[in-house]
Amino acid sequence: MQKTVLITGSTSGIGLGIAREFAKTKNYNIIFNGLESNGQEIADNVGKEFGIEVMFSNANMLKPEELRKMVSDGISKFGKIDVLINNAGIQHVSPIEDFPDDKWNAIIGINLTSAFYLSKAVWPGMKERKFGRIINIASAHGLVASEFKSAYVASKHGIVGFTKTLGLEGAPFNITCNAICPGYVKTPLVEKQIADQAKAHNMSADDVVNKVMLYKQAVKEFVSLESLGQMALLLASEASSTITGTAIPIDGGWNAQ
Ligand code: NAD
Repeated sequence: MQKTVLITGSTSGIGLGIAREFAKTKNYNIIFNGLESNGQEIADNVGKEFGIEVMFSNANMLKPEELRKMVSDGISKFGKIDVLINNAGIQHVSPIEDFPDDKWNAIIGINLTSAFYLSKAVWPGMKERKFGRIINIASAHGLVASEFKSAYVASKHGIVGFTKTLGLEGAPFNITCNAICPGYVKTPLVEKQIADQAKAHNMSADDVVNKVMLYKQAVKEFVSLESLGQMALLLASEASSTITGTAIPIDGGWNAQ
């Protein structure tokens, strides 16, 4: 029987990459979400390409009532939500003394608090059916810090703690919760950082990539969308019932140092 996966921020970057890996299996209906204005088209194209059912919601991660509606609309359409992937996220890079208050609040709201609202909304159905998989896309920055990313690092460390707690609370009901902690993935979020840092430090884009970003990874390559999607598929599977409360780095060895 088809399962249903809801992936936030799935009209771009990592979320879309993960959605495509789920779509390839043809075993999932997918609820897409994101703020891209062509989100419906992106979702429909994946649906057509792989012959699966899709839905799109432009629910804003900062609006709890929109998040609850996305979940109830998804349940009305597909009957249930088996897998929740909390992926939507933003970044802002600034020294602490200049860090804008509104950016701090948006980062904590989008990267962390939305996962609380969505997990709470899908939980009763997962508990009743004794099956649920919650996967949080944290970051290598959920495990280590870098300067000038105070809000991002706080949000990602926060979601790793949240993941552990849900892992414990879900255990009696076969609900698992795990975090994936990617190193650098070449998505629009990172393209923007490359451009910003090149400007701020008067460096070439290549130098930002090689001397600043990949400097921290032992494997000097951007993390692939396929590796993240395949890990998410494993964590979503029936076979992964004893993998819970973990934070799994896919970061080219960054956290091994
Ligand atoms: P991206 O900018 O390509 O995509 C972000 C997605 O989130 C988009 O679909 C966007 O519409 C959505 N989004 C942003 N704000 C939203 C809001 N308020 N409401 C609803 N949707 C919203 O970014 P990405 O690189 O694919 O990042 C995805 C996740 O992976 C983020 O949580 C990010 O922190 C994490 N991550 C990224 C990297 C990387 O190197 N790219 C590394 C580690 C972790």
